[in-house]
Amino acid sequence: MIDSYKHKGLRKQLVNEIRRKGISDEGVLKAMEAVPRHFFFDSSFLKFAYDDQPFPIGAGQTISQPYTVAYQTELLNVKKGDKVLEIGTGSGYQACILACMGAKVFTIERIKSLYIKAKALLPEMQCNSIKVFYGDGYKGLPTYAPFDKIIVTAAAPLIPEALVEQLKIGGYLVIPVGGSGGQVMNRVIKTSGSDYEIEGHGLFRFVPLLNEREDI
Ligand code: SAM
Repeated sequence: MIDSYKHKGLRKQLVNEIRRKGISDEGVLKAMEAVPRHFFFDSSFLKFAYDDQPFPIGAGQTISQPYTVAYQTELLNVKKGDKVLEIGTGSGYQACILACMGAKVFTIERIKSLYIKAKALLPEMQCNSIKVFYGDGYKGLPTYAPFDKIIVTAAAPLIPEALVEQLKIGGYLVIPVGGSGGQVMNRVIKTSGSDYEIEGHGLFRFVPLLNEREDI
């Protein structure tokens, strides 16, 4: 796929729109201007890639709205070299944004067809610092823990204890919590081996986290 001047121009406009909506972290905005979002779309839908909207990626799932990606990434406060776990690989776009900011990314996807697609696409994007896993994100990735940061990109009914356990002390977990009517973006800050604080941020609407029993 080609990243033309037209695509770059559309991306610049999208980043300006996201900035106007309140995102101010220059590292996030720079990564969003650098990563070609249209590479994560099927060729027939390229014209939708630079709208500030979520878009279907198959299997009933979506690539998140760019503003939401920026909002979650800003809350995560990503530093170069951070070890970041993402739950919900989807298209791979969010993972690529994190990698572009210098994070070492571990990402888990529950739906096999999406996992296979993202695993094949991400190396083509020269996102070498991303490891893609097929599995249930509720459990995290105990073998690779602890993580500096964890981001969940689907709605959780509550904060999974396994994910808090896999955070370093001082680490952040950014997770939308709530039911199908909408979720509050929570930032969980781990303050000691057994304690954490929860901050509530904006309201969002995500697809739900799928549980272990669903066969997919
Ligand atoms: N971050 C993605 C991107 O950049 O395209 C968008 C994520 S989409 C809104 C949510 C994703 O979470 C879907 O791909 C879905 O299959 C995945 N998911 C749902 N439940 C999961 C679980 N228990 N473990 C891992 N992934 C899960």
